[in-house]
Amino acid sequence: MTGFNTFAMLDWSGGNDTGPTPCRDAIWLGVTRDGVDEAPRYLRNRTEAEAALARLIEEEGAAGRRLLIGVDFPFGFPAGFAEALTGADTPFAVWDWLETVIEDAPDGNNRFDVAGEINGRFPGVGPFWFNGLQREIADLPRKDTRAGHGMAERRVADAQAPGTFTCWQMGGAGAVGGQVLTGLPVLNRLRRMFYGQVAVWPFEVLDKPVAVVEIWPGLINAAVKRAEAEGGIRDAHQVRLLARALARLPDDRLAEMLAVDAPEEGWILGLGHEEELMATCDDTLTPPPLRDDCFALPAGVDWTPVEEALALLRERLRAVVGQEVLPLGDAAGRVLAAPVTARRANPPEANTAVDGYGFAYASLTKGDQVLSLVEGRAAAGVPYPGSVPPGHAVRVLTGAALPDGVDTVILQEDVTVGEGRIAFRAGVRSGANTRRAGEDVEAGATVLEPGRVLTPADLALCAAVGLDDLPVFARLRVAVISTGDELIEPGTQARAGQIYDANRPMLGALVQQMGYDLVDLGRVSDDRAALRDALDRGAKEADVILTSGGASSGDEDHVSALLNEAGAMAEWRIALKPGRPLALGMWGGVPVFGLPGNPVAALVCTLIFARPAMAVLSGAGWHVPQGFDVPAGFEKRKKPGRREYLRARIRDGRAEVFKSEGSGRISGLSWAEGLVELPDGPAEIRPGDPVRYIPFGSFLGG
Ligand code: AMP
Ligand code: MG
Repeated sequence: MTGFNTFAMLDWSGGNDTGPTPCRDAIWLGVTRDGVDEAPRYLRNRTEAEAALARLIEEEGAAGRRLLIGVDFPFGFPAGFAEALTGADTPFAVWDWLETVIEDAPDGNNRFDVAGEINGRFPGVGPFWFNGLQREIADLPRKDTRAGHGMAERRVADAQAPGTFTCWQMGGAGAVGGQVLTGLPVLNRLRRMFYGQVAVWPFEVLDKPVAVVEIWPGLINAAVKRAEAEGGIRDAHQVRLLARALARLPDDRLAEMLAVDAPEEGWILGLGHEEELMATCDDTLTPPPLRDDCFALPAGVDWTPVEEALALLRERLRAVVGQEVLPLGDAAGRVLAAPVTARRANPPEANTAVDGYGFAYASLTKGDQVLSLVEGRAAAGVPYPGSVPPGHAVRVLTGAALPDGVDTVILQEDVTVGEGRIAFRAGVRSGANTRRAGEDVEAGATVLEPGRVLTPADLALCAAVGLDDLPVFARLRVAVISTGDELIEPGTQARAGQIYDANRPMLGALVQQMGYDLVDLGRVSDDRAALRDALDRGAKEADVILTSGGASSGDEDHVSALLNEAGAMAEWRIALKPGRPLALGMWGGVPVFGLPGNPVAALVCTLIFARPAMAVLSGAGWHVPQGFDVPAGFEKRKKPGRREYLRARIRDGRAEVFKSEGSGRISGLSWAEGLVELPDGPAEIRPGDPVRYIPFGSFLGG
């Protein structure tokens, strides 16, 4: 009965085409597929909506995914109506009947006439009321003057759902009568078109690949209001949140909500379970914590090659942050949480790419041309109101929509302008200097995938295709702790044996450059209780903790000792230089990276291990830093066994490396602009040999 992979929620509308720009009180489709929310889709009229549903059924079926479609109007009428109208007491008799009488097109439909026609078959006045048209319709009262029609006012389900409208009311804010009359024929057609694949709830057993159910977003109104307060279109939030709520419900909970008995009137899915649905779709909900043993290494492993260590991290980690919806202007640098689909094409309309004169190509004669100019012009945002007759031209400015009758534009520089006429040479191509509607992006195309770290250019793309807010992951919070009795704060007086804490400012800045929120937990001396307190704070205030120092197994190495004590620590001996064993563990459900104390090793281990791990935790997924092969500007012999990273920079097209490989040389870190990566095996590098160079910048984006 359950086991659905894809949840598609449709917010219906009984009105006419709502135009190219996404707006409220239109048709919206929200899809959550395999747990991932898509940005809600705007559908300007019922013809588009019907096609979108048919496509979805085909696509999900082809991919073998079980699909639950929710539609927000009643599937049945109060008991007795089906029999009175059709002579049969099944809801599908009404669906069939309506399909034969409803005439529907994007610019209008006969729903009010049909309501009047039905009323004519009932005694008294009603049951339908409200005429939204100027003209009178026989038997359809404008006001609620109904009496003696014999039908109940509400279905049993409606009576239990405060705020629902009756299916008899054909118009006025919130009314659903028109939606039922225009919607049921669409569902009926889909039932027939996909015969044997679709089951309608609660009238049929849900043993087909597709289930169609009745929904009502009013059930999660409080959650919708909270989302709406942050911006965006109400209808879009409704379908997005309902799809997410149903998708996140455990199968047994969904099965319980589906277990109703309403063979004639139908039912609203989730009625009576409002609180549970709202808790489930909450935007601030975060995924469950990582497992405590996620850093455990297979038994008997000694030195782990870098690639294997990275593969383990990639396999064991996943996003740990919640999601939120942000206005476009605030989303740069954030991680996209759902695919973005174009609500609108770019360009939305055919337009001119240059300043010049537009005309119909087919109306040109052979040879050089003289065309009469029409009055007026077309400019960007100010369309030409009329139609340009064949053999005429119109002044057009860059970005202007092509007027009716224009498909080709000639550059103004190629034209001689006379009194009311233009002349130009033969040879212009059909469609020259114009841009086709959708030539860049088609409406409905996926323009960005989840995990994308949003760039300024992405914001331009999203704005152009009609989005004003974006679903993103909450910022990953990263705590940084330095450990060691010898450390003091920069700016304070140093006594013998003391050194300034160099790792914290470096790691803090790195974390912020990577786009994460820094939680600075300061310095901790080599004292177990103090370190425990710092880790406790980290687990409360952050999603991941970076410590430096105290990470190997010497006497003062309290980070390893404490993580060991917590029972969730693994010492990863990674075959890497510079670097000591990396201590990886879980503290209070939060992953801890125990980095080496030595600043050179701390930076390299952060870039090579902590960085990709944090990207996964942040929702951005796994990214391999982009390096490239350049000729070596140095000489080096290397023994097999450990991968090596040298502090390097590019000068005159060659990679040069710092004069000393001493891992205490912080000046070499600052001198470097990237790392040269030498393979795990032996190597003998002579000047001019290709080596892999990875600029520091490659590590920072995502
Ligand atoms: P440890 O990993 O604690 O044994 O430290 C290794 C080396 O790195 C020692 O020489 C430490 O003094 C040095 N070190 C540890 N933490 C820092 C830090 N935050 N800033 C500068 N040097 C450090
Ligand atoms: Mg130490």
